[in-house]
Amino acid sequence: MAKIKVKTPLVEMDGDEMTRIIWAMIKEKLVLPYLDVDLKYFDLGVKKRDETDDKITVEAAAAIKQYGVGVKCATITPDGDRVKEYSLKKAWPSPNGQIRSYLDGTVFRKPITVKNISPAVRSWKKPIMIGRHAYGDLYKSAEMVIPGAGKAEMVFTPADGGEKLQVQVHEFKGPGIVMGIHNTDKSIISFAKACINYAISEKVDLWFAVKDTISKKYHTHFKEIFAAEVAKRQADMDKAGIKYRYLLIDDAVAQIMKHEGGILWAMRNYDGDVFSDMVAAGFGSLGMMTSVLVSPDGKFEFEAAHGTVKRHYYEHLKGNATSTNSVASIFAWTGAIKKRGELDGTADVSRFGEALEKAVISCIEKGIVTKDLVPLMDPRPAKYETTEGFINAVAEELKKNWK
Ligand code: NAP
Ligand code: MG
Repeated sequence: MAKIKVKTPLVEMDGDEMTRIIWAMIKEKLVLPYLDVDLKYFDLGVKKRDETDDKITVEAAAAIKQYGVGVKCATITPDGDRVKEYSLKKAWPSPNGQIRSYLDGTVFRKPITVKNISPAVRSWKKPIMIGRHAYGDLYKSAEMVIPGAGKAEMVFTPADGGEKLQVQVHEFKGPGIVMGIHNTDKSIISFAKACINYAISEKVDLWFAVKDTISKKYHTHFKEIFAAEVAKRQADMDKAGIKYRYLLIDDAVAQIMKHEGGILWAMRNYDGDVFSDMVAAGFGSLGMMTSVLVSPDGKFEFEAAHGTVKRHYYEHLKGNATSTNSVASIFAWTGAIKKRGELDGTADVSRFGEALEKAVISCIEKGIVTKDLVPLMDPRPAKYETTEGFINAVAEELKKNWK
């Protein structure tokens, strides 16, 4: 069988622990037998990051910027315990955070849906994708505990020496609390652009929701920036057959519970923190959630939303069999492969990505699954596969159906 030629190199970022083991199996059994692809390989495993003083992370981010599409394995973000465990020079920052700021990107989460796992919400039939603005607001706030009566004010002092702006927050009669939050036009514009890019890429309607009826400046500013960015891309959105919809945040929450899904819901930082976890839990398992980083200039990095599944890795090291779900990691690969095919205009590459996804779904729908999915399934399968057993089953299914 002749392999399919992938025109442009694909950036591959390896990772840590259980997901690193899964990664190698996916490559060996599901990808490389079918694709002739120039993989620009970066080992983002924590030992290699330590060895290179983390330069390798920046090099990987630069490669995504150059080639346009990357696929990343989950990685350890070291804390004190990990520094000891892996004898690291220091607690290096999160690779995901670094790649995200290098590309000025936004992370979107997308659940993988199958017929025999019903979401907790009955009406949800298609994936609800979530885009969270990951800068500012509550997460970069200045806070103060007010000890007693007095005036709390907000003051802006222009850098050019112009006139100060001042507003009273509250005149306290007794003890209380106060918080100042901020955001920047630059960051909101990048977020809006990334959301529009992703909605067009997925061909789904885009929702954005804030509370502009109450916050006539702060929230309204977000709403206006979104509207302006959407207006600039209206022709592309029309071409993709998708619509933009602005809602009040409470209306959006109520509507989502009756919606069938198949939309991108863009949210401010705090709303995204809260509702992305709600939606993820509603769809079932972490092992079935993918994640895509999209930059305002249209670069894509695909990965699983979960971490390195440390507990399973420790079992693996003891020589015990594991049953770790590889679906989100496989879909990180298919997402990247399909995007590469789309950008290169190579239909057979995209078709292979789809075939691999179909093989995964078909295994699950036949009841061939890892342990985490068993309690979510209807009907419940009588047994579950090991980590490798599941990947082997997918490989068989793919081999059978690929022409
Ligand atoms: P985790 O990898 O998300 O796993 C937490 C638990 O969720 C697992 O112990 C397992 O539950 C379940 N789980 C997650 N993914 C699963 C899968 N594919 N199949 C089956 N079960 C799955 O979090 P962690 O183990 O606490 O974190 C390990 C490391 O991941 C940390 O060092 C953290 O820095 C890193 N991390 C990386 C990323 C990333 O690179 N994107 C994201 C998050 C965390 P049971 O134990 O009950 O089976
Ligand atoms: Mg959260």
